[in-house]
Amino acid sequence: MALATEGQQQASAATPGHNHDFRYYACVNLWDNGEVTGVVDVWRCTACHAKGIELRAQGLNNLATETGFPILDGPDSNWVVFVCGAKEQIQYEVLRVHAGDTIEHDCVEKKGLLKVVAGYKLENSGDNFHKVQSIEPYLNENMDLAL
Ligand SMILES: [Zn+2]
Ligand SMILES: [Zn+2]
Repeated sequence: MALATEGQQQASAATPGHNHDFRYYACVNLWDNGEVTGVVDVWRCTACHAKGIELRAQGLNNLATETGFPILDGPDSNWVVFVCGAKEQIQYEVLRVHAGDTIEHDCVEKKGLLKVVAGYKLENSGDNFHKVQSIEPYLNENMDLAL
């Protein structure tokens, strides 16, 4: 199954028979080294509360609001920021994950799969180069990407 349809099916299974009605919900400011490096715009369906996101970052055009939100969270998933600090410049992605999901990753410190456990944290808490942080506690707040 394609990732793109999975979220929609999940959301419509929770509240069948409606077209999502997305309203702007919140933003999360991503900070790196004292500067805002990106902003996650969070949109939420007024009916089922499924959330889609759009990332605004330098050099990145995310067309989510034009194309609809192909991936949505649900009761058992969360939007998280995955941070890799292996390079001098922090790398990050915004992903929708379930507890138990794995993130495929390839950098000088880690090649392979990183497992996300309950609480939306990485299973390997001794990994000093990577972290996962749910956006939920940071709605309309600043999230520091520093490791
Ligand atoms: Zn909905
Ligand atoms: Zn990495």
